[in-house]
Amino acid sequence: MKIQNVVIIGSGTMGSGIAAHLCNANIPVTLLDLKTEISEKARDRIFKSRPPLLLDKSKINNIKIGNISDNFNVVKEADWIVEAVVERIDVKHSIYKKIFEERKPGAIVSSNTSSIPIKILSEKLTKEEKKDFCITHFFNPVRYMGLLEIVKNENNDLEKINSLKNFCETELGKGAIICNDTPGFLGNRVGVYAMQIAMTEAFKMKLSIEEADAIFGRPMGIPKTGIFGLYDLIGIDLMADVLKSFIKELPEKDDFHKVAKEIPLIKKLIETGYTGRKGKGGFYRINKADGNKVMEALNLETGQYLPAKKINIKSEKVDLKILIDRDDKYGEYAWSVISKIIKYASSLVPKITKEFNDIDEAMRLGFNWAKGPFEMLEEIGVTNFFDKINDYKENVFLENLAKTRNEKFYGERQKYTDIETLGKVKKTALSVDGNKSAEIYRFKDYNIVEFATKANALDYDSMDALKKATDKPLIIINESMQFSAGVNLSYTMDFADKGDFKSIEKFIRYFQKTCKHLKYSEHPVISAPSGLTLGGGFEVMVHSNFVASHTNIVVGLVETIVGLIPAGGGCKEMLARWLETDESKKDPNFAPLKVFDIIGYAKTATSPVEAEPMKYLRTEDKKIMNRNSLLEVSRKIIRDNMDFKTPNETTFKLPGKKAKDEMIKILEKLYNEKVILDHGMEVGKELAYVLSGGDTTIDKTLSEEDIFKLELDSFMKLIETKKTQDRIKHTLSTGKPLIN
Ligand code: NAD
Repeated sequence: MKIQNVVIIGSGTMGSGIAAHLCNANIPVTLLDLKTEISEKARDRIFKSRPPLLLDKSKINNIKIGNISDNFNVVKEADWIVEAVVERIDVKHSIYKKIFEERKPGAIVSSNTSSIPIKILSEKLTKEEKKDFCITHFFNPVRYMGLLEIVKNENNDLEKINSLKNFCETELGKGAIICNDTPGFLGNRVGVYAMQIAMTEAFKMKLSIEEADAIFGRPMGIPKTGIFGLYDLIGIDLMADVLKSFIKELPEKDDFHKVAKEIPLIKKLIETGYTGRKGKGGFYRINKADGNKVMEALNLETGQYLPAKKINIKSEKVDLKILIDRDDKYGEYAWSVISKIIKYASSLVPKITKEFNDIDEAMRLGFNWAKGPFEMLEEIGVTNFFDKINDYKENVFLENLAKTRNEKFYGERQKYTDIETLGKVKKTALSVDGNKSAEIYRFKDYNIVEFATKANALDYDSMDALKKATDKPLIIINESMQFSAGVNLSYTMDFADKGDFKSIEKFIRYFQKTCKHLKYSEHPVISAPSGLTLGGGFEVMVHSNFVASHTNIVVGLVETIVGLIPAGGGCKEMLARWLETDESKKDPNFAPLKVFDIIGYAKTATSPVEAEPMKYLRTEDKKIMNRNSLLEVSRKIIRDNMDFKTPNETTFKLPGKKAKDEMIKILEKLYNEKVILDHGMEVGKELAYVLSGGDTTIDKTLSEEDIFKLELDSFMKLIETKKTQDRIKHTLSTGKPLIN
């Protein structure tokens, strides 16, 4: 079965998200809704979406639009028809009737329902029709969420379901997990329970919403939106509907009921229009009353908004053992929440799923958790866990585990896919080396370096691990959200605060040395980025010999935002790439000016399609939809390059003053137009100095070391200024740039 043409019925949040993602895979898709205006608006929304649902704006041309009265005949041509209309069974049933009257024989029909059992969805279908009907439950936003739950019915043509699963894996890049027909399937069943327990325990323990979000967030390997932030994001009213549906569907003795009771404060919020980000506000709101934007948080006891407090729980890394052992209310909250999530998730095995592993993966892919409940249990330690709890009656999984206390109960990972993923391979690593910032996995014929810091920010140790691991072909890859958000600015600022600029210089020199080492190592180095690949992270990638990039990357050199310039070879490699162009051969100013524009404006690309024209990625770099496949592709690169030869050193011919003058003219214009201020001018001048080749002339050939030195000198000049330090501190504390 080949899927070459798709029709989606219902062009709301999910229909449009699925359509956009099919466009990304270059599959023609038609979006139908009650009226053409609705699907037209959906197409506009897709086009303007931020973060973008499309890999590139031109992909929008793959979408046609229409309405179900005049254009339903398009269904005749479709290989797959996706129903994504409102969650109402009567509406869904009437749509299926129409679809099955029109569809071509054998075309697949699926529903995106989040809560209606397939038994009820398909109750009016014939046996023959049921063969081709299933649930395909995508998560929002479709491009970015890895999980797809597929639910079969008893009559399905299994070959067809498998080929749909394969299509969704390879073409759409989804982690497709086949689930049983149970309420909320796996992701929402455990994910929504987890949200509810995090919320109800916060109320019970009288934690503020900022405190709860500070714990049920990064320290637990959960996205930083936390619980109350996530409620605001999803919509407090929508969550209330979701809970009602669970209460209706789940048996009374299911522990879900204990955490899904209506909370008076939430009822009041919904009634008064405080439904979250889409409404007047939610648990948080931005108060613009005095002309300033102030983030406020709701006091759960008084129901009043007060300026949100920053809670520093001083945890740089996810370490559940340390977290649950804390001798304070945060430790108590963390243990209470984590242990209850583990208990609930394990109560679903084997009845709801035989594979506890699938629950973990659903939480990773559908909720962006770093670890699922069973991996949390593994990390806490089986004995440690059972020493702390004793109430797990009727929980078959825990009862069995309590008997064996087998610390190695986990076994294989990512069982839902046949792909050789990093998660699976890591478990078979021969020997493990590393430090606090990165793990090194050693295999017979290659090494893996996996960064392990917050947002994979890079420091001396990260570089050390990379350098150590080049004794074999090396793959730089990780499982967290970001490849690397860049150099660890807090680490750098700790030195700056002490006036220890020598240590910063030493670090940058080591960074440069390591990058050069990656580029000219005896064995091939492959970077496999996904997510943020910025600043220093980009510099690591760009010095690798090969790149296997996930299609969801945000890539670029963003140093100027904090008043710095790239100094780990970012300027150098971008120059090298642009100097190779035909335009550059004709005009010596072309490459430096082009790079000046890209780095000066801190331009980022949000996909490989956008990255190529800027030369952040090259045509020959691999671009992959399924993140799970990054390791397999990287290993194939190693196999295909058994005769790898270390490249020759790059040399540079740069025009010096001539190009610099051009750049200064641009800066002066921006300064006069007040686009940049005094400090922006300083940063721009340093960048101009580096990119034009310093005080050189076109007749002189510069080496990589020469450019590294220019980068370092300018970087040091800038970091020693108070204005750059202020910008860095501002960005570190607010996450936003400071313009000065
Ligand atoms: P939505 O309200 O954003 O969109 C529903 C669309 O269906 C609307 O554009 C509406 O005009 C259209 N519609 C209604 N009746 C129709 C009909 N007879 N023919 C054609 N179009 C019709 O809803 P949504 O959030 O996109 O949800 C769609 C489905 O996906 C639901 O089953 C929901 O449970 C499920 N789902 C939603 C999410 C989510 O996060 N929003 C996640 C996973 C699954």
